[in-house]
Amino acid sequence: MSENAATIPVPEPSAASAPFWEATRNRQLIMQRCGNCRELVWYPRFVCPNCGDFDLQWETLSGRGVIYAVSVHHRPALPALADRVPYSVVLVDLEEGARIMSNVFGPAPAVGDAVTLAWVPLPDGRNLPSFERR
Ligand SMILES: [Zn+2]
Repeated sequence: MSENAATIPVPEPSAASAPFWEATRNRQLIMQRCGNCRELVWYPRFVCPNCGDFDLQWETLSGRGVIYAVSVHHRPALPALADRVPYSVVLVDLEEGARIMSNVFGPAPAVGDAVTLAWVPLPDGRNLPSFERR
């Protein structure tokens, strides 16, 4: 564990997001899919925002996607990120069809760049999903 990872605040899971955070221990990106309308649901919740159904099932995603939007940050949002600036806050369109907000550390990606998951270790054994160019 790096000193930097130890200072990144540990996310506090909600009842709905607990399975997502547990899966990050195995570096798996999971997301809910509605059993009724088949839409992917992000962020985790108990009711499908598309059709109102309660039948949400977890599935493992590839972790591959394409950059939809980029915002380069030169001032760290957290003290733990001070040695990582500049870094990018990105929207990634995942292969499976969902859009997720995340980070790219290192050189900024461009819109349309292909990316894949790059996990940032957290001090409690979970991992924070970020992305890197493929
Ligand atoms: Zn639905």
